[in-house]
Amino acid sequence: MNEKELAPHIEDINRALKGKVNSEQIEEELQKFRSEYRISLGDAKRAIVKKFGGDPLELYLNPEKKINEIRGDERSLDIKARILSLQDKEIEIEGKPKTIFYGILGDDTGTVPFTLWEAKSLDLEKGDTVHLKNAYANTWNDQPQVNVGSMAGICILDDHEVPPFEREPQQCMVKDIREGMRNLVVTGRILSLEKKSFQTDDGEKDLFSGVLGDESGKIQFSAWHDFRLETQQVIRVTGGYVRSWRGIPQLNFDDSAEVETLDDSEIPSSDVLKDSSNMTISQLARRGGAVDAIVDAVVIDIKTGSGLIFRCPECNRVVQKGACRIHGKVDGEADLRVKGILDDGTGALTMIMTRELTEEVLGYDLDRAKELARDRMDQDIIKDELEELMIAQPMRIRGNVTSDEYGLMLVATEVKFKRIDVEAEARRLLDEVSV
Ligand SMILES: [Zn+2]
Repeated sequence: MNEKELAPHIEDINRALKGKVNSEQIEEELQKFRSEYRISLGDAKRAIVKKFGGDPLELYLNPEKKINEIRGDERSLDIKARILSLQDKEIEIEGKPKTIFYGILGDDTGTVPFTLWEAKSLDLEKGDTVHLKNAYANTWNDQPQVNVGSMAGICILDDHEVPPFEREPQQCMVKDIREGMRNLVVTGRILSLEKKSFQTDDGEKDLFSGVLGDESGKIQFSAWHDFRLETQQVIRVTGGYVRSWRGIPQLNFDDSAEVETLDDSEIPSSDVLKDSSNMTISQLARRGGAVDAIVDAVVIDIKTGSGLIFRCPECNRVVQKGACRIHGKVDGEADLRVKGILDDGTGALTMIMTRELTEEVLGYDLDRAKELARDRMDQDIIKDELEELMIAQPMRIRGNVTSDEYGLMLVATEVKFKRIDVEAEARRLLDEVSV
């Protein structure tokens, strides 16, 4: 037997002797027993343990192993793990069909493929936490695999007995953050910060929330622990996780996370970051939404219910033909808004502009709009004017983008027309032609 083949047996003896004898000496003894006395390996192991004052029974107690400790040559293996995937397969053994199961096991140290060669009466399912006793390991493509044969025992454990498998912390730019991500490393500047207190079973707790930005975008965050955060600080969060609110991914971190304060120069200033979150509509769709996003697009349609509208004083719904859908005939209160469709060539979304921005685009206020409509005896005149002003105009729109089953919606906080500089554009075209 070569050294590699002997290694697991030396380890077994070492364990039974609780490390009292060094490995070289055990190897020497083992070689001697095998070659001089010509006894079986099992007998040799028992004899050596006895010789050094140990209990040979200890040889048969399997130490529990973590998945990253499995070498692939264990003949008897005890592990506690969670079944991360499970599938069945029909095979044929000596002409007889047989069902085997295979999948992936995981614990907090890693994952390993496994095969269940004997269908047990236990109904195993993905997600079950199991204790495998007397399984064995081999290797395939240099990777260890666990085999559960006829000599093995399986029992189902309580879920909490195996900690979840966590991937290595993952470095991530703000724009790439998606719902469901865990164990993230995010570096950014705190652009705003707010403290809220709430009641828990253990008394009052503080929640620190705000907006974190890097060169790629901005994200709302919630810190469930007091990390002594400050506005303008550059921080690196290790161990964050992501939840979504109306489609917008939000970064969460609690006392299990690590927060370091970095040098101010690691992230551009907040003035630079203010205009960093430029995104295409298809990027927004893939992400599900964004906080303080900037979209360059054109308005392709302005929907009915835009311009001068009247709202129900009870429920704020838009009144149609003098009646609220819920409250019937009401004296509506005048308001201005735009409900438009933006298109940037990669996709489309619904944009809402509230009264203030609508007044800005029109160049006059609500009272003037009411006067104009009254003079012309036509409420739609304001919508017509907005169409005139906005449709097919290149614009830069800023706002929070949310999503639901009807698609993306941007509530604008800033609208800028990108008036094309005709002369500059002509020059650019000429340059292009002369190249
Ligand atoms: Zn109403």
